[in-house]
Amino acid sequence: MSAQSEGRDDDRTAEIAGALARVRERIAAACAAAGRDPAEVRLLAVTKTFPAEDVARLADLGQTEFGENREQEAGPKAGELAALRPAVPVRWHMVGRLQRNKARAVVRWAGMVQSVDSPRLAEALARAVAAAREAGERGGPLDVLVQASIDGDPARGGCPLPELPALADKIAQSGELMLRGVMAVAPLGMAPEAAFSALRTAADRLRNDHPTAVELSAGMSGDLEQAIAHGSTWVRVGTALLGGRGLASP
Ligand SMILES: *Cc1c(COP(=O)(O)O)cnc(C)c1O
Repeated sequence: MSAQSEGRDDDRTAEIAGALARVRERIAAACAAAGRDPAEVRLLAVTKTFPAEDVARLADLGQTEFGENREQEAGPKAGELAALRPAVPVRWHMVGRLQRNKARAVVRWAGMVQSVDSPRLAEALARAVAAAREAGERGGPLDVLVQASIDGDPARGGCPLPELPALADKIAQSGELMLRGVMAVAPLGMAPEAAFSALRTAADRLRNDHPTAVELSAGMSGDLEQAIAHGSTWVRVGTALLGGRGLASP
């Protein structure tokens, strides 16, 4: 038996397969409850802190979109997955806070950056994409989402809602970045319903101004139903697929 088929058949694979089926059922049920077509809502598997072998298990089960929140962890993991499953087309999303000096590294592996929250970060990413294209490391522009801070608390990242339109305009003017929509994490101290409703209003406005900004990335393991009820097109799920991450990495 090859190492690959052994890996497929083990207990961890069965555990992940069950979890993936349950998450897909939750998404389908939330779409039904909201009167939405399930094809409108995609699943991003957030694999931070879990090994490339778990990503390979998810890829074998048909999952192709993966999210990470730290460049230092994601770059090597994307390389490991490419070695484990060279023929499987996957796309990696950066969903975490990004320092400008990591922009050049991120554009080597990320198909989408969901956490663009300032004009200066947008500029750094645009320069990084231009350099990567020149070096033959990537072909086209980088898909980006602007990350909104629903409660305006600067400590946790995200662009305050009043500043979102100007940030989106700036990205839309770049030939290296393609504005695809908005991402947010529901703030801890706010009811998810209120948070996602405010987010949806901001996303609708952006979509009005920028026809390519159709995506709304909202909802995680604990609140994906509420996010889908408020128009989410991407749910980002870690814990419900792969299990708890412990205290070190919330
Ligand atoms: C970790 C993380 C998630 C996934 O959270 P879970 O509660 O484990 O599903 C989603 N979005 C971002 C930005 C994250 O960092």
